[in-house]
Amino acid sequence: MKCTQTMHNPRERLAGCCTWPLLVLCAAVAGWVGGCRSLSGVQEPAKPAATAPKDQETFRWPEGKRAAISLTFDDARVSQVEQGVPILDAYGVKATFYVSPSGIERRPADWKKAAATGHEMGNHTLKHPCSGNFRWSRHKALEDYTLEQMGDELDEASAVIEGLLGVRATTFAYTCGQTFVGRGVRTRSYVPVVAERFIVGRGAYDEAANDPAYCDLAQATGIELDGLDFEQAKPFVEQAAKEGRWLIFFGHDVGKPGRQTVPASTLEALCRYANDPSNQLWIDTVDAIGTYILKKRAENDGSTRTGGL
Ligand SMILES: [Zn+2]
Repeated sequence: MKCTQTMHNPRERLAGCCTWPLLVLCAAVAGWVGGCRSLSGVQEPAKPAATAPKDQETFRWPEGKRAAISLTFDDARVSQVEQGVPILDAYGVKATFYVSPSGIERRPADWKKAAATGHEMGNHTLKHPCSGNFRWSRHKALEDYTLEQMGDELDEASAVIEGLLGVRATTFAYTCGQTFVGRGVRTRSYVPVVAERFIVGRGAYDEAANDPAYCDLAQATGIELDGLDFEQAKPFVEQAAKEGRWLIFFGHDVGKPGRQTVPASTLEALCRYANDPSNQLWIDTVDAIGTYILKKRAENDGSTRTGGL
Protein backbone atom coordinates (compact mmCIF):
# COMPACT_ATOMS: atom_id res chain seq x y z
CA MET A 1 0.00 0.00 0.00
CA LYS A 2 1.27 3.42 -0.95
CA CYS A 3 -0.14 6.18 1.18
CA THR A 4 0.10 8.94 -1.39
CA GLN A 5 -1.29 6.94 -4.30
CA THR A 6 -4.42 5.36 -2.81
CA MET A 7 -5.55 7.67 -0.05
CA HIS A 8 -6.78 11.06 -1.12
CA ASN A 9 -8.50 12.14 2.10
CA PRO A 10 -5.85 13.19 4.60
CA ARG A 11 -7.72 11.49 7.46
CA GLU A 12 -7.99 8.18 5.55
CA ARG A 13 -4.40 8.52 4.49
CA LEU A 14 -3.27 8.93 8.09
CA ALA A 15 -5.35 5.94 9.17
CA GLY A 16 -4.05 3.79 6.29
CA CYS A 17 -0.49 4.66 6.94
CA CYS A 18 -0.78 3.96 10.60
CA THR A 19 -1.93 0.38 10.09
CA TRP A 20 1.55 -0.28 8.87
CA PRO A 21 3.85 -0.45 11.92
CA LEU A 22 6.75 1.16 10.19
CA LEU A 23 4.60 4.05 9.10
CA VAL A 24 3.27 4.55 12.60
CA LEU A 25 6.82 5.24 13.60
CA CYS A 26 7.17 7.48 10.59
CA ALA A 27 4.11 9.51 11.48
CA ALA A 28 5.14 9.83 15.09
CA VAL A 29 8.69 10.86 14.48
CA ALA A 30 8.83 12.78 11.23
CA GLY A 31 5.31 14.09 10.69
CA TRP A 32 2.80 12.02 8.83
CA VAL A 33 2.73 13.59 5.36
CA GLY A 34 6.41 14.06 4.67
CA GLY A 35 7.38 10.83 6.39
CA CYS A 36 4.87 8.70 4.49
CA ARG A 37 5.90 10.15 1.22
CA SER A 38 9.57 9.52 1.68
CA LEU A 39 9.04 5.96 2.81
CA SER A 40 6.56 5.19 0.05
CA GLY A 41 9.14 6.03 -2.60
CA VAL A 42 6.73 8.20 -4.58
CA GLN A 43 7.88 11.66 -3.51
CA GLU A 44 6.65 14.23 -5.99
CA PRO A 45 9.26 16.36 -7.72
CA ALA A 46 9.43 20.00 -6.64
CA LYS A 47 7.24 22.13 -8.87
CA PRO A 48 8.58 25.34 -10.40
CA ALA A 49 6.99 28.57 -9.23
CA ALA A 50 3.52 28.80 -10.73
CA THR A 51 4.24 32.27 -12.02
CA ALA A 52 7.37 31.38 -14.03
CA PRO A 53 6.67 32.26 -17.67
CA LYS A 54 7.14 29.46 -20.19
CA ASP A 55 9.92 31.21 -22.07
CA GLN A 56 11.84 31.89 -18.87
CA GLU A 57 12.30 28.15 -18.48
CA THR A 58 13.44 27.57 -22.04
CA PHE A 59 15.76 30.52 -22.74
CA ARG A 60 19.31 29.36 -23.32
CA TRP A 61 22.46 31.28 -24.16
CA PRO A 62 24.55 29.77 -26.97
CA GLU A 63 27.13 27.05 -26.36
CA GLY A 64 26.17 26.53 -22.75
CA LYS A 65 27.15 30.05 -21.71
CA ARG A 66 25.81 31.14 -18.32
CA ALA A 67 25.31 34.83 -19.09
CA ALA A 68 25.94 37.50 -21.68
CA ILE A 69 27.89 40.74 -21.18
CA SER A 70 28.11 43.87 -23.29
CA LEU A 71 30.60 46.64 -22.68
CA THR A 72 29.29 50.01 -23.84
CA PHE A 73 30.85 53.47 -23.92
CA ASP A 74 29.02 56.75 -24.49
CA ASP A 75 29.74 60.06 -26.23
CA ALA A 76 32.68 59.06 -28.52
CA ARG A 77 35.25 60.48 -26.15
CA VAL A 78 38.87 60.55 -27.34
CA SER A 79 40.10 58.27 -24.53
CA GLN A 80 37.82 55.53 -25.86
CA VAL A 81 39.77 55.19 -29.12
CA GLU A 82 43.11 56.09 -27.53
CA GLN A 83 42.98 53.71 -24.59
CA GLY A 84 39.81 51.65 -24.69
CA VAL A 85 39.90 50.19 -28.19
CA PRO A 86 43.55 48.99 -27.93
CA ILE A 87 42.68 47.05 -24.74
CA LEU A 88 39.53 45.56 -26.28
CA ASP A 89 41.42 44.61 -29.44
CA ALA A 90 44.21 42.96 -27.44
CA TYR A 91 41.60 40.58 -25.99
CA GLY A 92 39.51 40.25 -29.15
CA VAL A 93 36.49 41.74 -27.35
CA LYS A 94 33.91 43.68 -29.39
CA ALA A 95 32.23 46.60 -27.62
CA THR A 96 29.44 49.04 -28.40
CA PHE A 97 30.11 52.76 -28.68
CA TYR A 98 27.15 55.14 -28.46
CA VAL A 99 28.70 57.90 -30.46
CA SER A 100 28.04 61.60 -30.61
CA PRO A 101 28.86 62.91 -34.11
CA SER A 102 30.84 65.80 -32.61
CA GLY A 103 33.03 63.25 -30.83
CA ILE A 104 33.65 61.26 -34.02
CA GLU A 105 34.76 64.42 -35.81
CA ARG A 106 37.62 64.82 -33.34
CA ARG A 107 39.19 61.49 -34.35
CA PRO A 108 37.50 60.37 -37.58
CA ALA A 109 40.23 57.96 -38.71
CA ASP A 110 40.36 56.18 -35.34
CA TRP A 111 36.57 55.82 -35.23
CA LYS A 112 36.45 54.51 -38.80
CA LYS A 113 39.06 51.93 -37.91
CA ALA A 114 37.16 50.87 -34.77
CA ALA A 115 33.95 50.47 -36.79
CA ALA A 116 35.74 48.54 -39.53
CA THR A 117 37.19 46.08 -37.00
CA GLY A 118 33.76 45.08 -35.66
CA HIS A 119 33.06 47.39 -32.76
CA GLU A 120 29.44 48.51 -32.84
CA MET A 121 28.57 52.15 -33.43
CA GLY A 122 25.22 53.00 -31.86
CA ASN A 123 23.00 56.10 -31.87
CA HIS A 124 23.19 58.53 -28.92
CA THR A 125 21.19 61.42 -30.48
CA LEU A 126 22.72 64.33 -32.32
CA LYS A 127 22.80 67.08 -29.68
CA HIS A 128 22.85 64.96 -26.52
CA PRO A 129 19.77 66.54 -24.89
CA CYS A 130 19.15 65.87 -21.19
CA SER A 131 17.02 67.44 -18.49
CA GLY A 132 17.48 71.19 -18.19
CA ASN A 133 18.38 70.55 -14.58
CA PHE A 134 21.83 70.05 -16.09
CA ARG A 135 22.68 73.67 -16.83
CA TRP A 136 24.75 72.63 -19.85
CA SER A 137 21.57 71.15 -21.34
CA ARG A 138 19.25 74.08 -20.59
CA HIS A 139 19.24 75.24 -24.24
CA LYS A 140 18.41 71.70 -25.44
CA ALA A 141 16.38 70.46 -22.49
CA LEU A 142 14.26 67.32 -22.81
CA GLU A 143 11.54 69.29 -21.02
CA ASP A 144 11.27 71.42 -24.18
CA TYR A 145 11.40 68.57 -26.74
CA THR A 146 8.49 66.98 -28.58
CA LEU A 147 8.23 63.37 -29.73
CA GLU A 148 8.40 64.48 -33.35
CA GLN A 149 11.51 66.53 -32.73
CA MET A 150 13.16 63.58 -31.01
CA GLY A 151 12.24 61.23 -33.86
CA ASP A 152 13.75 63.62 -36.40
CA GLU A 153 16.91 64.00 -34.35
CA LEU A 154 17.39 60.24 -33.99
CA ASP A 155 17.01 59.81 -37.76
CA GLU A 156 19.44 62.60 -38.46
CA ALA A 157 21.99 61.15 -36.02
CA SER A 158 21.77 57.76 -37.73
CA ALA A 159 22.31 59.41 -41.12
CA VAL A 160 25.33 61.35 -39.86
CA ILE A 161 26.87 58.22 -38.27
CA GLU A 162 26.38 56.31 -41.52
CA GLY A 163 27.92 59.16 -43.49
CA LEU A 164 30.96 59.41 -41.22
CA LEU A 165 31.58 55.74 -40.46
CA GLY A 166 29.77 53.76 -43.13
CA VAL A 167 27.68 51.74 -40.66
CA ARG A 168 23.99 51.84 -39.78
CA ALA A 169 23.17 52.20 -36.06
CA THR A 170 20.82 49.42 -34.92
CA THR A 171 20.85 50.17 -31.18
CA PHE A 172 20.48 53.32 -29.08
CA ALA A 173 21.51 54.65 -25.66
CA TYR A 174 19.27 57.18 -23.89
CA THR A 175 21.21 60.35 -23.12
CA CYS A 176 21.65 60.69 -19.35
CA GLY A 177 19.51 57.54 -19.17
CA GLN A 178 16.39 59.76 -19.48
CA THR A 179 13.43 58.56 -21.54
CA PHE A 180 10.99 61.50 -21.49
CA VAL A 181 10.20 64.65 -23.42
CA GLY A 182 8.01 67.53 -22.25
CA ARG A 183 6.91 68.42 -18.74
CA GLY A 184 3.91 68.06 -16.45
CA VAL A 185 0.70 66.82 -18.11
CA ARG A 186 2.40 67.06 -21.50
CA THR A 187 5.28 64.74 -20.54
CA ARG A 188 5.64 61.82 -22.95
CA SER A 189 7.86 58.77 -22.99
CA TYR A 190 10.00 58.57 -26.10
CA VAL A 191 10.62 54.84 -25.61
CA PRO A 192 8.16 54.05 -28.47
CA VAL A 193 10.09 56.43 -30.76
CA VAL A 194 13.22 54.40 -29.99
CA ALA A 195 11.42 51.06 -30.28
CA GLU A 196 10.27 51.92 -33.80
CA ARG A 197 13.82 52.56 -34.95
CA PHE A 198 16.20 50.30 -33.02
CA ILE A 199 16.35 46.73 -31.80
CA VAL A 200 17.67 47.82 -28.39
CA GLY A 201 17.42 51.03 -26.35
CA ARG A 202 19.88 51.03 -23.43
CA GLY A 203 19.13 52.89 -20.23
CA ALA A 204 21.62 53.98 -17.59
CA TYR A 205 22.20 54.04 -13.83
CA ASP A 206 20.12 50.90 -13.31
CA GLU A 207 20.57 48.31 -10.57
CA ALA A 208 19.84 44.93 -12.17
CA ALA A 209 20.90 43.11 -15.32
CA ASN A 210 18.36 42.14 -18.01
CA ASP A 211 16.32 38.94 -17.92
CA PRO A 212 16.62 37.83 -21.56
CA ALA A 213 13.26 36.04 -21.48
CA TYR A 214 11.36 39.00 -20.11
CA CYS A 215 13.06 42.35 -20.58
CA ASP A 216 11.79 45.12 -22.81
CA LEU A 217 14.63 45.55 -25.27
CA ALA A 218 13.56 49.15 -25.84
CA GLN A 219 14.45 49.78 -22.18
CA ALA A 220 17.39 47.47 -21.57
CA THR A 221 19.10 48.27 -18.29
CA GLY A 222 22.62 49.67 -18.08
CA ILE A 223 24.93 49.29 -15.08
CA GLU A 224 27.51 52.02 -14.50
CA LEU A 225 31.11 50.88 -14.85
CA ASP A 226 32.70 54.30 -14.33
CA GLY A 227 34.80 54.43 -11.20
CA LEU A 228 34.63 50.70 -10.42
CA ASP A 229 37.70 48.58 -9.88
CA PHE A 230 37.46 44.96 -10.99
CA GLU A 231 36.57 43.67 -7.53
CA GLN A 232 33.60 46.07 -7.48
CA ALA A 233 32.49 45.13 -11.01
CA LYS A 234 32.88 41.37 -10.56
CA PRO A 235 29.80 40.83 -8.30
CA PHE A 236 27.57 42.18 -11.10
CA VAL A 237 29.05 39.59 -13.46
CA GLU A 238 28.74 36.79 -10.93
CA GLN A 239 25.11 37.67 -10.19
CA ALA A 240 24.31 37.77 -13.92
CA ALA A 241 25.94 34.34 -14.37
CA LYS A 242 23.94 32.94 -11.47
CA GLU A 243 20.66 34.16 -12.97
CA GLY A 244 21.39 33.67 -16.68
CA ARG A 245 21.11 37.38 -17.42
CA TRP A 246 22.39 39.92 -19.91
CA LEU A 247 24.61 42.44 -18.16
CA ILE A 248 25.20 45.70 -20.01
CA PHE A 249 27.92 47.86 -18.48
CA PHE A 250 28.25 51.47 -19.54
CA GLY A 251 31.02 53.99 -19.07
CA HIS A 252 32.50 57.16 -20.49
CA ASP A 253 36.24 57.85 -20.51
CA VAL A 254 38.81 55.07 -20.23
CA GLY A 255 42.12 55.57 -18.44
CA LYS A 256 43.39 56.51 -15.01
CA PRO A 257 40.70 56.35 -12.31
CA GLY A 258 38.74 59.60 -12.23
CA ARG A 259 35.31 61.14 -12.76
CA GLN A 260 33.18 59.39 -15.40
CA THR A 261 36.09 57.10 -16.17
CA VAL A 262 36.39 53.33 -16.49
CA PRO A 263 39.82 52.48 -15.08
CA ALA A 264 41.92 50.85 -17.81
CA SER A 265 42.84 48.13 -15.31
CA THR A 266 39.14 47.31 -14.79
CA LEU A 267 38.51 47.05 -18.52
CA GLU A 268 41.50 44.79 -18.96
CA ALA A 269 40.53 42.54 -16.03
CA LEU A 270 36.93 42.28 -17.26
CA CYS A 271 38.07 41.26 -20.75
CA ARG A 272 40.39 38.64 -19.27
CA TYR A 273 37.68 37.30 -16.97
CA ALA A 274 35.05 37.17 -19.74
CA ASN A 275 37.48 35.39 -22.07
CA ASP A 276 38.33 32.68 -19.53
CA PRO A 277 36.40 29.63 -20.82
CA SER A 278 35.84 28.37 -17.26
CA ASN A 279 33.61 31.38 -16.55
CA GLN A 280 31.27 30.45 -19.44
CA LEU A 281 30.42 34.00 -20.44
CA TRP A 282 29.42 35.41 -23.80
CA ILE A 283 30.83 38.90 -24.29
CA ASP A 284 29.66 40.71 -27.41
CA THR A 285 28.04 43.86 -28.76
CA VAL A 286 24.53 45.01 -27.86
CA ASP A 287 23.46 44.41 -31.45
CA ALA A 288 24.76 40.82 -31.45
CA ILE A 289 23.16 39.86 -28.13
CA GLY A 290 19.92 41.77 -28.78
CA THR A 291 19.59 40.02 -32.14
CA TYR A 292 20.16 36.63 -30.51
CA ILE A 293 17.48 37.34 -27.87
CA LEU A 294 14.94 38.28 -30.53
CA LYS A 295 15.73 35.11 -32.47
CA LYS A 296 15.40 32.87 -29.40
CA ARG A 297 12.14 34.52 -28.33
CA ALA A 298 10.68 33.92 -31.78
CA GLU A 299 11.79 30.27 -31.64
CA ASN A 300 10.49 29.76 -28.12
CA ASP A 301 7.03 31.21 -28.39
CA GLY A 302 6.52 31.46 -32.12
CA SER A 303 5.94 35.17 -31.82
CA THR A 304 7.14 37.62 -34.41
CA ARG A 305 7.61 40.44 -31.92
CA THR A 306 10.42 42.79 -32.70
CA GLY A 307 12.47 44.99 -30.44
CA GLY A 308 9.54 47.38 -30.43
CA LEU A 309 6.94 44.93 -29.15
ZN1 LIG B 1 26.02 60.50 -23.18
